[in-house]
Amino acid sequence: MRIDIVSIFPEYLAPLDLSLPGKARAKGLVDIAVHDLRDWTHDRHRTTDDTPYGGGAGMVMKPEPWGEAFDALLPADGSATVVFTTPSGTPFTQAVAAELATHEHLVFACGRYEGIDQRVIEEAGTRGGVREVSLGDYVLNGGEVAALAITEAVVRLIPGFMGNPESLAEESHEDGLLEYPVYTKPPSWRGRAVPDVLLSGNHAAIADWRREQAERRTAERRPDLLLTSSLVHGVEVRGAE
Ligand code: SAM
Repeated sequence: MRIDIVSIFPEYLAPLDLSLPGKARAKGLVDIAVHDLRDWTHDRHRTTDDTPYGGGAGMVMKPEPWGEAFDALLPADGSATVVFTTPSGTPFTQAVAAELATHEHLVFACGRYEGIDQRVIEEAGTRGGVREVSLGDYVLNGGEVAALAITEAVVRLIPGFMGNPESLAEESHEDGLLEYPVYTKPPSWRGRAVPDVLLSGNHAAIADWRREQAERRTAERRPDLLLTSSLVHGVEVRGAE
């Protein structure tokens, strides 16, 4: 997979060299390049924003540098997908991460100011795929943190990345439920014991306990998920009003 990230603050993306994306890069599973949008400007001030048509507060990102960025980064065969990070986008979920992980080439367009001139999104749509994705119902200062979060969630789903792929299948949101509580050694810590069933060696009982805990936790914290999951998996809904 190839990932290009375009931003006016490329240094914001430095963590991509670390930890998980860094490991995926080292393994050759993903090729990530960060680009400074200002490299596609031509004035002395390397301007990327201008005042909004129609008036109003703030500035809007100009289309011209984005157009040149697309000319440089998007292959002519339309095989890339541009991901615009925006609070107006589709909420980012594990399902969206899984869908994005199937793409060969993602180009993240990180907005700043009041956002990017709408014609840039239209132009991207004529050059390949487009996704407008929101990290959540709040407003960040720029799209870089969203691009980092999305990249991390996507990269860990690339086949061959996880040493033990089973750990992916058991995670929160994979089966529509939050994950059950987890424990490690010692069996008793500061007077708190690990639930007996986890020490029993009875795998069926452990699976039942985990399923029940996952359902209970989801009903308490995210009943909206349990309702969806009940439709998909036939899960019994308790206290999900
Ligand atoms: N005026 C815009 C609005 O109300 O929708 C918000 C602009 S925000 C200050 C600047 C940039 O941060 C956006 O263009 C987008 O790239 C990014 N951004 C802010 N919140 C985001 C979110 N929840 N998810 C993804 N990107 C976000």
